[in-house]
Amino acid sequence: MTKIRMTTPLVEMDGDEMTRIIWKMIKDELIEPFVDLKTEYYDLGLKERERTHDQVTIDSAEATKRLGVAVKCATITPNAARVEEYGLSEMWKSPNGTIRAVLDGTVFRAPIVVKGIEPYVRTWQKPITIARHAYGDVYKNVELLVPGPGKVELVYTPADGGDEVRATVHDYQGAGIAQGIHNLDDSIASFARASFNYALDTKQDLWFATKDTISKTYDHRFKDIFAQIFDAEYRERFEAAGIEYFYTLIDDAVARVIRSEGGFIWACKNYDGDVMSDMVSTAFGSLAMMTSVLVSPHGYYEYEAAHGTVQRHYDKHLAGEETSTNSVATIFAWTGALAKRGELDELPELVEFAHRLEAATIRAIEDGVMTGDLAAITSIPNPTRVNTHDFIRAVAERL
Ligand code: NAP
Ligand code: MG
Repeated sequence: MTKIRMTTPLVEMDGDEMTRIIWKMIKDELIEPFVDLKTEYYDLGLKERERTHDQVTIDSAEATKRLGVAVKCATITPNAARVEEYGLSEMWKSPNGTIRAVLDGTVFRAPIVVKGIEPYVRTWQKPITIARHAYGDVYKNVELLVPGPGKVELVYTPADGGDEVRATVHDYQGAGIAQGIHNLDDSIASFARASFNYALDTKQDLWFATKDTISKTYDHRFKDIFAQIFDAEYRERFEAAGIEYFYTLIDDAVARVIRSEGGFIWACKNYDGDVMSDMVSTAFGSLAMMTSVLVSPHGYYEYEAAHGTVQRHYDKHLAGEETSTNSVATIFAWTGALAKRGELDELPELVEFAHRLEAATIRAIEDGVMTGDLAAITSIPNPTRVNTHDFIRAVAERL
């Protein structure tokens, strides 16, 4: 059989532990037999990050700027235990954090919905994608413990020597606390554009919500920037694509999300996105069925699974025991990247292949063949619980 042709390579970011093992199986058995796979390979496994003093992570992010599309395996974020385990010379930073800083993106998380793994919310029939703003607010706050009576103020000192602006936060009669938070117009604008672009890409409505009735300057700024950019740059394209941009209050959004049937993107401020993405992924059934894509305002894409390296399973694997690790989100990271590459390079066969691989994966589960995490929660009677490798074989057969 002639293999499907690629023109531009993908940036391939290899990783650690159990997901590194799954990574190779997916390439060997699900992709390379069918696709003349072209990648620029970066090994982000912890050993190589140590050897290169983490330069490999920066190089892989820079390569993504050059080539446009990356696929990433889960990687260890070192803590004290890992420093000892791997004899690290430094506690290297989270690769995802480094890559995000280089690409300046918004992270979109979407569940893979299959029959037989029912969301806890009965009305949800389609995925709900969360777009989380990843800059500022409470994550870059400044806090004060106020020991006793006194005044806390916000003071703005213009860099050009203009008049100072002051606002009283509170006149304290006794002890208390105070907090200063900030955000930037540029960051909010790139969050807005990434969200609008992703809605167009995936042909889904976009919802955005803040508490602008209470926070009349801060949250209102988010609402205004989204509205200005939508009107100036996206309204016509949304109308042509038959999708909607919808703004409401955050508490109203929460109520509507629960009553909805899904099938939209929910853009969230940093804190809302942190909290709501955990709620939404749990309610859809399994972390192992959650995909994640970093979209930069410049049009770079980095696809990955939302879960980590599944260390507990890797320890079993090293001890020679059988594992039943779910590879679905990692397969979908590859299909997301291949489909995007195919779309950008105008290779319809590559896009079609990615969709077939996704369909074969979903089909295997809906046929009752699944890894232990899903077998434990499925509504399909008598599922066949398979090991890590046999699940990939079951997908290959259907592919
Ligand atoms: P994890 O790898 O996501 O695994 C946590 C638990 O969730 C597993 O022990 C397993 O539960 C279940 N699980 C997750 N993915 C699964 C899959 N594909 N199939 C079946 N079960 C799955 O999180 P962690 O153990 O906290 O972190 C391990 C390492 O991953 C850490 O070094 C962390 O830094 C790294 N990490 C990386 C990323 C990333 O690269 N994006 C994200 C998160 C964490 P059971 O043990 O009950 O089966
Ligand atoms: Mg969270």
